[in-house]
Amino acid sequence: MHVLVLGGTTEARTLAGLLHSRGERVTSSLAGRVASPRLPAGEVRIGGFGGPAGLARWLREHQVDALIDATHPFADTISSNAARAAATAHVPLLALRRPGWVAEPGDHWHPVGSLEEAAAVLPDLGERIFLTSGRMGLAAFAGPELATSWFLLRCVDPPEPPLPARLRVLLDRGPFTLDGERELLAAHRVEVLVTKDSGGAATAPKLQAAREAGVPVVLVRRPPAPPGLPQVATAQEAAVWVAAQSSG
Ligand code: NAP
Repeated sequence: MHVLVLGGTTEARTLAGLLHSRGERVTSSLAGRVASPRLPAGEVRIGGFGGPAGLARWLREHQVDALIDATHPFADTISSNAARAAATAHVPLLALRRPGWVAEPGDHWHPVGSLEEAAAVLPDLGERIFLTSGRMGLAAFAGPELATSWFLLRCVDPPEPPLPARLRVLLDRGPFTLDGERELLAAHRVEVLVTKDSGGAATAPKLQAAREAGVPVVLVRRPPAPPGLPQVATAQEAAVWVAAQSSG
C-alpha cells in the first residue's frame, strides 16, 4: 500500500506515525505555508500539486492506493481538489476531520460565517481583541471601522500586510495550556476572542479561559466539507480504514 496523507494538522502527523510504524508506505503532503513545519514520520513532499488535475497525476505517477484528506477543516480548496482528483484517478478517499467545538454553559459565542463577518461584530463586543484565526485574511480587520481597536495576534509565522493599525504579534504554536491562556487574557486585558472553529484539544484551552473570564468569543464557522465522502474523526479510525483498503 502507498498512502498519501494530505496534512498540515496534528491528526495527519499522528496518522502518518501510525501507518509508518506498522510498515505501510506513507507520504505526507504539506502545502509549504509554515517556515519550519513539524515533520511527520515517513516520506514528506512539500508544495501544491497544481490543482485537481495535478493531484490526480501525482496519485497515478506515484501509484497511490489510498488518499486521506487530513487537512485543516478550513482548508477547503485542497479538500475539494482531493475529492475531484480521487474520482479522476480512481483512488479511494477518506476525510479525517476533527469535530468542531461545542459551546458549554457560561460561553458567550457569536458564530459568524467569515473573517469579514467577525470584523463587523467586533465594535459591539470590545476594543481589546485576541485574534487566533491565523495569519491569513487579516485584511478583514485592517479597515477604518476598527482603527481604534487594539489587536493581539497569535500565529506561527509573521503576518503580512494589510494588518490592523494597532497590532501586537505573538509568534507561538500550540498546544497551549489553560494556565498560559488565563495569564495571556489577563495580562493583555482581552475583551474579545476571535477564533475559527478548528476543533481539537491543542488550542481549546483558550475557550475555557474565555469562559472563566466572561470574554465573548467570535467563532468563525467551518466551510462545508465536500459531500458524500466517508469521514472519520481520529487518526486511529483512519488507520483502521487504511487496513480495510489493503485487505479489500
Ligand atoms: P487551501 O486554501 O485549501 O489550499 C490552497 C492550495 O494550497 C491548494 O489548492 C493546494 O495547491 C495547496 N495545498 C493546500 N494544502 C496542501 C497540502 N496539504 N499539500 C499540498 N498542497 C496543499 O489551504 P490553506 O487553507 O491555505 O491551508 C494550507 C495548509 O495549511 C493545509 O495543508 C492545511 O492543513 C494547513 N492548515 C490550514 C489552516 C487554515 O486555517 N486554513 C490551519 C492550520 C493548518 P495546489 O492547487 O497547487 O495543489
